[in-house]
Amino acid sequence: MNKPISLSAIFQASQPTISIEFFPPKTEEGARQILKTAQALKDYGISFASITYGAGGSTRERTLEYGELLQQLFGYQVVPHLTCVGHSQDELTAVIDRIATADFPGIVALRGDPPKGEATFQPHPDGLRHASDLVHFIRKQQGKKLAIGVAAYPEKHPEAADLATDLHWLKHKVDQGADFIVTQLFFDNAHYFSFVKQCRALGITVPILPGILPPLSLEQAKKFVGFCGAHLPAALEEKLAACGDDLVAAQTAGIDWAFSQIQELLAHGAPGFHLYILNRSESALALLDSLRAAGTIHQ
Ligand SMILES: Cc1cc2nc3c(=O)[nH]c(=O)nc-3n(C[C@H](O)[C@H](O)[C@H](O)COP(=O)(O)OP(=O)(O)OC[C@H]3O[C@@H](n4cnc5c(N)ncnc54)[C@H](O)[C@@H]3O)c2cc1C
Repeated sequence: MNKPISLSAIFQASQPTISIEFFPPKTEEGARQILKTAQALKDYGISFASITYGAGGSTRERTLEYGELLQQLFGYQVVPHLTCVGHSQDELTAVIDRIATADFPGIVALRGDPPKGEATFQPHPDGLRHASDLVHFIRKQQGKKLAIGVAAYPEKHPEAADLATDLHWLKHKVDQGADFIVTQLFFDNAHYFSFVKQCRALGITVPILPGILPPLSLEQAKKFVGFCGAHLPAALEEKLAACGDDLVAAQTAGIDWAFSQIQELLAHGAPGFHLYILNRSESALALLDSLRAAGTIHQ
């Protein structure tokens, strides 16, 4: 296993920060898939890997279990996610202690979505209500031992009345001690550039990693924008629609779109990019290979 390194050192490096997001597997086939993908991407100079935290049950245990495996078997710097959903403060303390003891370099602190079937988020009676509370809670317990990442939404969080209100709470979340921000996926860079400008104007100075999903099909792109409230640009919709049932062509079009997005983001000052790889290696490999061939990334 690599010695844990400081995430702030990663962000200060001259190379773009590249992070990839895994989710904990639910089945044996899923377990094979995540390990195969981790193996395939391990020599691509990934700065850190994050691993999501499920809505409840055994998948939560697997976040830390697979996080440890990604560290031990492949040498990734792993940053587990943690949410407030369904947890008392004592339970959160136990998970945070475990994350700190296992030498993970950081944590992504989230509120989480309401569990299936519930319309609004209800905190545990002895739990925390907002991601900012969780950031404060982690800082109080662990000092500076863990780097803390938080989520942000260039096209606003679906529950927020407007972007200005969402940005106000983002600033509060960062002021509680967050070290970096990872954004929700977006397909139109104009949203990211405008968002970063507004964050900087409010005094949010931490790195803002843009979240990129290479869409695999029109159906998948529509599904994602549907649940996260992002905008699907007409040009991308047309490109994916033109592929019809040809899934290989659609995947290539999606990778091309993500490639252009990343080229432009890095050229205009983004500190790197966060890839939503959905535990699949093919499109991430093709995308990273094209970025290498173009000299955009050097690892
Ligand atoms: C990069 C990324 C990773 C994610 N990983 C996971 C994961 O692993 N597991 C998972 O379940 N979900 C994950 N999510 C989804 C996330 O949990 C949801 O988007 C959730 O609805 C909001 O989480 P948050 O941490 O942004 O919440 P918060 O920052 O708490 O914000 C939620 C809403 O409340 C508002 N708000 C915030 N603070 C306050 C306050 N003090 N007073 C009033 N309003 C406030 C905000 O404007 C926003 O509308 C992820 C999202 C992103 C972008």
